[in-house]
Amino acid sequence: MNPKNGEILGMATYPSYNLNEPFEAYTDELKQNWENMSSAERTEKLQAVWRNRAITDTYEPGSTFKTITASAALEEGITDTDNEGEFSCTGGIEVAGVRIKCWRYYRPHGSESLRQALMNSCNPVFIGLGQKIGVTKYFEYLKKFGLLETTGVDLPGEANSIFIKQEKAGPVELATISFGQRFEITPLQLVTAVSAIANGGNLVKPHVVKEIIDSQTGESKKIETEIKGTAISKETSEKVLSMMESVVSEGTGKNAKVAGYRIGGKTGTSEDGVNTNKYVTSFLGVAPIEDPEVVMLITLYNPTGEGGHQGGGVAAPLGGQIFSEILPYLEVSQGNQDEIETINQIQVPELTGKTVKEAKNIAKESGINLIIENEPEELDEESTIISEQTPKAGITINEGTNIYCKIE
Ligand SMILES: [Zn+2]
Repeated sequence: MNPKNGEILGMATYPSYNLNEPFEAYTDELKQNWENMSSAERTEKLQAVWRNRAITDTYEPGSTFKTITASAALEEGITDTDNEGEFSCTGGIEVAGVRIKCWRYYRPHGSESLRQALMNSCNPVFIGLGQKIGVTKYFEYLKKFGLLETTGVDLPGEANSIFIKQEKAGPVELATISFGQRFEITPLQLVTAVSAIANGGNLVKPHVVKEIIDSQTGESKKIETEIKGTAISKETSEKVLSMMESVVSEGTGKNAKVAGYRIGGKTGTSEDGVNTNKYVTSFLGVAPIEDPEVVMLITLYNPTGEGGHQGGGVAAPLGGQIFSEILPYLEVSQGNQDEIETINQIQVPELTGKTVKEAKNIAKESGINLIIENEPEELDEESTIISEQTPKAGITINEGTNIYCKIE
């Protein structure tokens, strides 16, 4: 999302399906079993993949939500970013007789400033801030950040958040909300709230339609940016962005670094349901920090790959990879002058129309990674022709960028 005007620049859910053939089996596994499945089973599988999970499904945001608690606490003047030793993590905190652990209870974080607590993603610090803010004020901030109502995006099927009722929220509920657990929001609600942090404090309504043009009369109607309210001050917004930059430069979001750009972020991991042993891991990113143009959220449901299920391991590297491709594409200038000289910039070569073998040679010479999206198990590189490439030839990119191709 562009945090300044609420434009949704991209939204995707995987696994995906062929929009022209929405009733077909969409994975190899389903294709094999499709004939044997009942129509009810097929409908269930189809409806699962048709969902636009960014807006129709809620999830527990986990530690990405600490950015919201930090914002509220800073705005209320309860804390500041760099008071050395302001907090102390002993591995857990007692709340109404219940001990809530820090994720690193086995080796407590010890003395921390707020910035360090966000970098360490230390639970007790955010629980403590929640206590100082109090239920009433905390819910005011949920409202100001647009988290108690749908965003109003111009797409069908938007779900709303699931929070405990304010009058029923006791100290334990407040504590868990403060570090992002035991409530659910849609990915788009989180992106919209964090866009307020990124744009200087305004809650902007997200939208996918930019302009409507009447094909007969040529009359056009531009969709104006709608600011729904103010969540926080510009000063608080700048402080939170600065801390989010530290998360990526030296904290749990290190894997999202992109040379030459100032990127901010926060990772998160939460359980997908209660005691399921399945996790949702995520990376929330903002770039460039000096004048944010993109807020991005990646959520991975039950990742089982090498990076484990922690956000820093699997979601943050994806975030970095996506930023490294979209920031040059959006022509965002590189703010970190010291690092620019270390990256080689090249122009995307023309690969379309070439054989796979030729394209691979060109890619190797120019220092890009060629990825064939629809690569079959066996491929005759000398006769197969590249039919499509993204990004297109001529665009300036960093060396080492992935170029996605399709073959005929
Ligand atoms: Zn801790």
